[in-house]
Amino acid sequence: EVAIHGVNKSFGTLKVLDDIDLTVGSGEVVAIIGPSGAGKSTLLRTINHLERVNTGLVAIDSELIGYERRGDALYELKEPAIRRRRAGVGMVFQNFNLFPHLTALENVVEAPISVAGVPREQALASGRDLLARVGLADKADVYPRHLSGGQQQRVAIARALALRPKVLLFDEPTSALDPELVGEVLDVIKELAKSGTTLVIVTHEIGFAREVADRIVFMEAGRILEIAAPERLFSAPTHHRTREFLAKVL
Ligand code: ATP
Ligand code: MG
Repeated sequence: EVAIHGVNKSFGTLKVLDDIDLTVGSGEVVAIIGPSGAGKSTLLRTINHLERVNTGLVAIDSELIGYERRGDALYELKEPAIRRRRAGVGMVFQNFNLFPHLTALENVVEAPISVAGVPREQALASGRDLLARVGLADKADVYPRHLSGGQQQRVAIARALALRPKVLLFDEPTSALDPELVGEVLDVIKELAKSGTTLVIVTHEIGFAREVADRIVFMEAGRILEIAAPERLFSAPTHHRTREFLAKVL
């Protein structure tokens, strides 16, 4: 479970997250939609402490992200501890962010070996299983530059799964892809959703959000304006800003 309570974040005088409350249940799939600049990416980045909040708390299965409680006080964790907790949160970015000098399999096993201390042989075996799961069993020894965008993104998904995260975050995972490659990546995400992985997905693919998400979050100007099941949000949005946004994108 991901619990976000009273999160505020500003960059200088610009308020980017304004009192955000959101709980994502274990096994739930939540899609975040909203206009450019709404704060969607920033919100995702606060979930794994890539972005520090100004006030508020984020917890994964009751474990605070980036902080620990001692008595009544909160203390910010230091790097090794932050990295250990971040391992519970997998993230997939728009631009794949694979290590270019590592093969597909090496990309997948890098963190399990170097962060989690998994023995090499065991990491390689699980890494091959993960590549098979995203349909890339035959690409283990290929370098990213010889893979299509869709294949690179599927390697990135396998890599994000390799630390067995409690939640997987996607930030517009298909928006850098040629249209004909979008489907193969969405199919992999759909499989993850079916298998009970907790997912938070920022996406402009409204049809996909509708199909895969249990709930849709509409954000604008740093606020969550509406949260609802897809059938309700798309057929009968209650907030006028949601209606205006949907009129533009649907
Ligand atoms: P998009 O759909 O375009 O990806 P978004 O909803 O993901 O938009 P964010 O990237 O979260 O929006 O940005 C929210 C606001 O915060 C924007 O106005 C952006 O310019 C600003 N912002 C984001 N990161 C920083 C930063 N590191 N420093 C200053 N301002 C930032
Ligand atoms: Mg963004």
